[in-house]
Amino acid sequence: MQKIIVVTGGVLSGLGKGITAASIGHLISKQVTPIKLDGYLNTDPGTMNPLEHGEVFVLDDGSEVDMDFGHYERFLNTTCTGAQSVTMGKVFEEIRKKERRGDYLGKTVQYVPHVVDLIKEKILSIKSEIILIEVGGTVGDLENNLYIEAIRQLRQDVGKENILYVHLTYVPIPVGVNEQKSKPTQQSVNELRSKGIQPDIIIARCSEYLTPKIVHKIANFCDVSPQHVITAIDVDNVYKIPYVFQEQGLLTVLNQSLKLYLQPQTAWTQLLTNLDNPQQEIVVAIYGKYTDLGDSYASINEALMHCAAHLNTKINLQLIDTTTFNGNITANAVIIPGGFGSRGTEGKIEVIKQCRKQGTPILGICLGMQLMVVEHARSLGLNANSSEIDPNIEHPVIDIMPEQKSVTDKGATMRLGAYTAILKEGIISSLYNSTTVSERHRHRYEVNPQYHNQLEQEGLILCGKSEDGRLIEFIERNDHPYFVGTQAHPELKSTFTKPAPLFMGLVDAALKIRSNPENAN
Ligand code: GLN
Repeated sequence: MQKIIVVTGGVLSGLGKGITAASIGHLISKQVTPIKLDGYLNTDPGTMNPLEHGEVFVLDDGSEVDMDFGHYERFLNTTCTGAQSVTMGKVFEEIRKKERRGDYLGKTVQYVPHVVDLIKEKILSIKSEIILIEVGGTVGDLENNLYIEAIRQLRQDVGKENILYVHLTYVPIPVGVNEQKSKPTQQSVNELRSKGIQPDIIIARCSEYLTPKIVHKIANFCDVSPQHVITAIDVDNVYKIPYVFQEQGLLTVLNQSLKLYLQPQTAWTQLLTNLDNPQQEIVVAIYGKYTDLGDSYASINEALMHCAAHLNTKINLQLIDTTTFNGNITANAVIIPGGFGSRGTEGKIEVIKQCRKQGTPILGICLGMQLMVVEHARSLGLNANSSEIDPNIEHPVIDIMPEQKSVTDKGATMRLGAYTAILKEGIISSLYNSTTVSERHRHRYEVNPQYHNQLEQEGLILCGKSEDGRLIEFIERNDHPYFVGTQAHPELKSTFTKPAPLFMGLVDAALKIRSNPENAN
């Protein structure tokens, strides 16, 4: 029988519900499929500004999804599909289609049963030994009420022995009071119960481990045994959370409640030890424009952390807004991330120029690679830009893809998802240890085919192409320690155990120059 674990959140947002769900998933060494239920009416986050919603994560199948899917893939070692991302936008779109088609002929279409049934159908259409459901938002929000009703009903549908409700709350220690307070947890559990759900496990976010007194108070009030009250302690690194839960007996609770027979996990313990004991230190600067929200470049931060663990290096991250940048580059390595529109692009081009000239290792991602090509074309004397930035430019070395020209809808119309590229032998192919690689994409523009030949001079190599040879996927230089760009987003597939090769190459090049500055030339 399929088992279901549901994670809901209470008290306030931002407590780490995604990490909590992913950490539970990490401990379950069985086939586990995560599902996220989001309350917003967008079909997907693809049309939201990263400053509003954080990074838009892209899956192999081209779905644009919430950044929590990044946590799921990294923590569960799994590849997700778009069907695992349910939004109210998708649900209502389907309800409206069904209604027009006549599926409900003669009936009044209602939230209950029709919408709630459709949500349950979407959940149960996923076949997996274990389904892990994260309900977006906070209990009590208007937006997720229908999801809460659906997961309440699931208990009857699948049998109470096959479903487990985990509720994440917050235990504050107010300044001046200086003791742990359980009232917000009690109120939040009350709210959940008023909707018909009795939580089986309470996970409480707190800056200190819950005292036995508070554990008993919460257990008593919320009708769970004290073993089912677990602290989500503040950590410096979220990859520690599964082990924080494991040490407090979460596996025993899961085994007893769902008869799962899980064994303790140790997959990351050595890597976590490495992170806590770095042997060297470098600064990596991200020159972007979505710098006001750390989550905008979430997967890049993660990918760097994965490298840090493997290379025993402390990576100090600088996030620099190129809209106002006019200084010198002092970082050991530079990343120019993806982005849209013209704001800040001249600053990025200036950063690329300096890195090229002074031999600073640099990785250009998507828009970053496009701007590397623009900078190179300018160095060859062309009045060049991307036509996204300047539609009337004399030499549009980056131009819209032909298949994109007639596209008017903004949602899900970019070149999205995993594509294979073929590499020439060089720096990039040796990092991947292969000449055939697959990475995920999210873009509308490309290196203009009319300029391919002209660009390949003065050290620039268009070293990776799409399988049909039309699109440039990777570039590198043969006269620079590490000048690498890709049209793809390699950060999206980086995991703690398998860091993205291009990030490893960047950090490694920076470390080599640090130990011997001669390597810069
Ligand atoms: N704006 C560029 C394009 O659409 C780059 C996109 C990106 O960096 N993800 O091609």
